[in-house]
Amino acid sequence: MPPSNLTVAAHPLVQHKMALLRDRQTPAREFRQLVGEIASLLAYEATRNLETEPVSVHTPLETMEGRRIPGDRIVLVPILRAGLGMVDAVAALFPNAGVGHIGLYRNEKTLEPVSYYFKIPPLGGEKVYLVLDPMLATGGSASAAITKLKESGARRIRLICLVAAPPGVERMMKDHPDVAVFVGALDRELNDHGYILPGLGDAGDRLFGTT
Ligand code: URA
Repeated sequence: MPPSNLTVAAHPLVQHKMALLRDRQTPAREFRQLVGEIASLLAYEATRNLETEPVSVHTPLETMEGRRIPGDRIVLVPILRAGLGMVDAVAALFPNAGVGHIGLYRNEKTLEPVSYYFKIPPLGGEKVYLVLDPMLATGGSASAAITKLKESGARRIRLICLVAAPPGVERMMKDHPDVAVFVGALDRELNDHGYILPGLGDAGDRLFGTT
């Protein structure tokens, strides 16, 4: 049974696009497009229970009460560098969203993530932070990023990943049981190099054409 803070989006559109994304033959341009499309479908899931407020709307025929998401409610927080590939598509859904950035690298001796960049928009009690990272592998980076975010005062945090592996999900459950995790697929395992199997390879390399 998947843990209760995990949502695996089973929508046919997500499954269809995930299959294209995983394909080793998919070129970088299409890969980037798919990362964005899947990210926005997952953001739709992750913001399903967002509060709305009433707004008066004048249609050509009448005045009615519509609903809107309060102005600066959403903050997108990509984890560098692969998380950048998810930002534009999610920002298109939330044009007023702030964007923060968290950069982490792995200390080769301790294998622990070390923060080298952290900048987020000014805090606000009601803000909802959508942390973006395509791959939830060991969970080390996501957990460290969310710890930093909490230390800075953020409270309402959700994590959106395209592909997750069981160790990453378990790590999130253990370190941050209060953070809901939304993924496009929960894969089988990690290999000895920390890559997700079957996975899609190195998301950053495929997004940015590096090796
Ligand atoms: N990061 C990636 O880009 N791919 C993986 O499979 C695991 C971590």
